[in-house]
Amino acid sequence: MTMTLPFDNSYARLPERFFARLDPAPVRAPALLALNRDLALRLGLAPEALATPEGVAMLAGNAVPAGAAPLAQAYAGHQFGGWVPTLGDGRAVLLGEIVAPDGARFDLQLKGAGQTPFSRRGDGRAWLGPVLREYLVSEAMAALGVPTTRALAAVATGEVVVRDAMGRPGAVLTRVAASHIRVGTFQYFAARGDTEGLSLLADQVIARHYPEVRGPLELLRAVVAAQARLIAAWMALGFIHGVMNTDNMAVSGETIDYGPCAFMDAYHPSTVFSSIDQYGRYAYANQPQIAVWNLAQLATCLLPLMGAREAAIEAATEAVNGFVPLYQAEWLARFGRKIGLAAATPEDQPLIESLLGRMASERADFTRSFRGLVTGTARSEFAEPLAFDTWAPDWQARLAREADPQAVMAAANPVRIPRNHRIEEAIVAAVEGDLSPFTRLSAALADPFAAPPEYADLEAAPRPHEIVHRTFCGT
Ligand code: AMP
Ligand code: MG
Repeated sequence: MTMTLPFDNSYARLPERFFARLDPAPVRAPALLALNRDLALRLGLAPEALATPEGVAMLAGNAVPAGAAPLAQAYAGHQFGGWVPTLGDGRAVLLGEIVAPDGARFDLQLKGAGQTPFSRRGDGRAWLGPVLREYLVSEAMAALGVPTTRALAAVATGEVVVRDAMGRPGAVLTRVAASHIRVGTFQYFAARGDTEGLSLLADQVIARHYPEVRGPLELLRAVVAAQARLIAAWMALGFIHGVMNTDNMAVSGETIDYGPCAFMDAYHPSTVFSSIDQYGRYAYANQPQIAVWNLAQLATCLLPLMGAREAAIEAATEAVNGFVPLYQAEWLARFGRKIGLAAATPEDQPLIESLLGRMASERADFTRSFRGLVTGTARSEFAEPLAFDTWAPDWQARLAREADPQAVMAAANPVRIPRNHRIEEAIVAAVEGDLSPFTRLSAALADPFAAPPEYADLEAAPRPHEIVHRTFCGT
């Protein structure tokens, strides 16, 4: 029996050169590892049905549901600044788009679904580690209120995947997204001089994400604004994406492609985790300027749709430059709330920057220091607490003008983030067959602003020997 889902596949109705049609490649022994009940209900899907053998077969890629139009999307991209004209879904198959009961449209994609025409030298598969990592981090981001792709399910394949000359358990992630259209998707058509393709793609993006928008310039402005908000949200959580290649930037404004991403423990603006980011291109503090770089690539792609070249270049440049004031305002609002200011103004910026500077030089834990402003424990996060004590009087003086700074801070500063050492602990246990650390971490991250005593251990910063310095690509 095949499952029936409310599919309406607008991307699959685009011309054939947008993708390669193919079914996911079946796996040997599918077994459900995790199912996101709340997300299933949000989509209008019955969690019970997804957990049946038929449901699991679909989530593993062994059965294609009725109404699906499976395909691998074509895209290009700049990887670490280097141009790659053809990337595409090398290990992911889009089953189709489902329309939720409230009319919202979501891509349903299987990641790790086998080889596609875009696989190059890759095996098209994923292993358990990156699948659980993306599950945990993307769901934590959603719970923290950050626009993101979601994780509906993780299944074990019963197959072995070889990574770094090691056999590892294979897995498939079911990813849900507003769409999987990337800056790199626009680059794919622009690089081929395919103006008709660009136009169709822009129309699809407008229809799906920015229905109020008229024309390519307004579309660019909308994407710029969405990215400015998104990157500011990352920064306010100490989140480092790790691979902000243009193919990993969704035009919807959702965080996408969780690879070597990480939340900082100790704060430092130059923090890098990714093992392949040798020069720190995607370091924490570089993220806004990298976003601008990527948006400039998008702008370049849209020029052929924007009429007279000189005027188009001028308008597109202005639209991209619009990132800076939007980002700065969003950054100020978010960091202002983190220190208890309901509506920070530019005069408050030095106060915030002074705190961050002290946190950096005293290796203060990012999440715990800000949460510590709520609980009164912030000073103990600083290697030299005096660095906090000499900042606090100005802060207190400023708070005297606020109505309810405690409530503002409590809502802006999470208690829990998915810490690297906890994610790794959960993955190591899962590889050994014990899913309980993963399940517990997952449950704890669903409500990251609450502090129930049973999750107190997950609030702790890593002890020196537990610190994770390097994270790896999700391949
Ligand atoms: P990522 O770094 O995960 O954004 O992936 C970059 C590109 O490599 C994309 O085109 C992926 O589809 C492709 N890719 C990553 N891992 C694999 C794999 N195991 N097999 C085939 N293609 C892959
Ligand atoms: Mg990618």
